[in-house]
Amino acid sequence: YYDTLASQNIHLDQSQWEAVTHIDGPLLTLAGAGSGKTRVLTARTAFMIQEKKIAPQSIMVVTFTSKAANEMKERLASYPSMTRQHIHRLVMGTFHSIFYRMVVHHDPDKWKMDHLLKWDWQKEQIIKEGARQLQLDEKEFPFDQAIQQISYWKNTLMDVRDIRPVDQWEERAHHLYKHYETTKRQRQLFDFDDMLYGCYELLKNNPALLERYQERLSYFLIDEFQDINKVQYEIMKMLSAKSKNICVVGDDDQSIYAFRGSDPSFILNFERDFPNTKIITLNQNYRSSHPIVASANKVIAMNKARHPKKMVAQFTTDVHPLFFFPYDEEEEATMIVHDIKERIQSGARPSDFAILYRTHSSSRAVFERLTQSHLPFTIEQDADSFYQRRIVRSLLSFLRLSINPNDTNALSDLVSALFLKQSAINDLKAISILHDVSFVEALQHLENLHPFQQKKLKKVAPLFRSLPSMKPLVAIETITKDMGFEDFIKKRGNEGNKMEKGSDDVRDLKVVAKKFTTVQQLLDHVEHMVAMNKEIKTLSKQYQDSVQLTTIHRAKGLEYKHVYVLSSVDGGIPHDYALESYRNGDFSPLEEERRLLYVAMTRAQHSLSLSIPQTRRGKTAYPSRFLKPFMQVSHLENSRG
Ligand code: ATP
Ligand code: MG
Repeated sequence: YYDTLASQNIHLDQSQWEAVTHIDGPLLTLAGAGSGKTRVLTARTAFMIQEKKIAPQSIMVVTFTSKAANEMKERLASYPSMTRQHIHRLVMGTFHSIFYRMVVHHDPDKWKMDHLLKWDWQKEQIIKEGARQLQLDEKEFPFDQAIQQISYWKNTLMDVRDIRPVDQWEERAHHLYKHYETTKRQRQLFDFDDMLYGCYELLKNNPALLERYQERLSYFLIDEFQDINKVQYEIMKMLSAKSKNICVVGDDDQSIYAFRGSDPSFILNFERDFPNTKIITLNQNYRSSHPIVASANKVIAMNKARHPKKMVAQFTTDVHPLFFFPYDEEEEATMIVHDIKERIQSGARPSDFAILYRTHSSSRAVFERLTQSHLPFTIEQDADSFYQRRIVRSLLSFLRLSINPNDTNALSDLVSALFLKQSAINDLKAISILHDVSFVEALQHLENLHPFQQKKLKKVAPLFRSLPSMKPLVAIETITKDMGFEDFIKKRGNEGNKMEKGSDDVRDLKVVAKKFTTVQQLLDHVEHMVAMNKEIKTLSKQYQDSVQLTTIHRAKGLEYKHVYVLSSVDGGIPHDYALESYRNGDFSPLEEERRLLYVAMTRAQHSLSLSIPQTRRGKTAYPSRFLKPFMQVSHLENSRG
């Protein structure tokens, strides 16, 4: 079979081949990025079916994303004599998809898709009701944090009854957890975490059913094992208890989902739970050139909590990781797009390129420059335009209504920015018809307002009069000041994510505003960009060959010829929140950020460019502390020519 594969240009080295053919008993492959772990899993699946004549329906293959599952299916299809039927019969997909199929098979009514709480705002509704019982204000206890904590408890198998709160914060979160679980049960709803938890309970409470699964499934393969969480792990332990044929591959240095309950200790302690584990290490990196591997190794070596690995690059070049030092985000985008264009002119294809960033909100400038460049590019489907972010929309609603006092779409954003109830929209519309005035003028006629709101509304009319003639930057500064946006940012500034700060969005919007001379120009730009965001997402599905714009998290497991990493500065990577934790004595978020940079760097095959803007969001920025160990060296090597 080895020769058959080789004749199809599917090469495997000795250690990889060993991992492919060691079928019986537990197997652990702990190896660095680009060492062929995913290739081993694919080849192993084909080997089991073709050589060992194992029935595909008894093989379960778990990937981290559905995209990765599809990719693996495509790869498998290119293996000698693998048929579509074989591939179709495999139990293959993400933990969520596989476990959901199990629970829904058992109880189709309970797990109907229309009972799924798909979005965070749906969960927030329930949390909000619970908070009302406790008379908790969102300001004191952000709902998104409660949602995250509940999800964390769920994924680490902490039942409502098991929790012993240690402080007031946990007490509140626990109360909300109780309320959330009861409400879901009463209304027959479930969320994504319940798919896993439900599967765990199902198997745990039905020994006969578990036994049937144990008989049906005899081989288990798991990719990206470093990001498994407790509930997933426990289910896999149950399923594989009989056959013990469980093969896992992973890299503890790429564990980047701790906030979702992932725990690399499962990979590091695998042997303890699965006695007689065969361990195979892979040391060759087949993806990246020597200088990239060397730099990535230097970065990750600084982490304390890790399993040391030796990685040797297979191919060498003298192209070292490159640093860009743009002045700001705008110049960063210009330089990168320019570089891509040049490389395309010398023969590269758009799909050879990926631009990676820590958080989606950092991609605004690159998105805009790529749009203007007419290069085909792709962004994530759930990535909203920067201008659709809550705080940005609120600020822009003032500008939009100041230019067009009857802009109905901006009205809802304005109402929320003024802390009015959403029902005020109807009042405003009614008043505007009744008195034949614009929405803005109608604001003066609202009744039953809190004195603090009245005070604010008094300032609205003069503000609106002055805005259209101001320079866009001054206009935004004036709105934030006059309308007390500091408060607003504190209360609802983040986008359901404690790591994203509203104040960053405001600073970012100012960077944009600076580029325009009139408010109208700024608004035209915004409108164009929001439309482009929708268009790009529709086009994305058609593009075969496009530049990839993606967060580092989503790029895991993938590879690109040329990689650009945005904002490799303190506050970018590492993210501000990790630096804050570090100052408070918690080192683990900082180590996770370093792993993120390691993941980003190791996506690159031929060239890696790290951008270090001198200012970010209008403030001076400093090179990421993670880069320092190899930046000097690399400069030296570069200057030596
Ligand atoms: P990651 O940790 O990033 O998920 P990985 O360990 O899963 O990486 P793969 O994606 O399987 O690595 O392999 C990296 C690249 O090296 C792929 O392009 C793969 O096709 C190639 N590759 C793997 N093994 C070999 C080999 N023996 N000979 C040639 N190329 C190989
Ligand atoms: Mg992989």
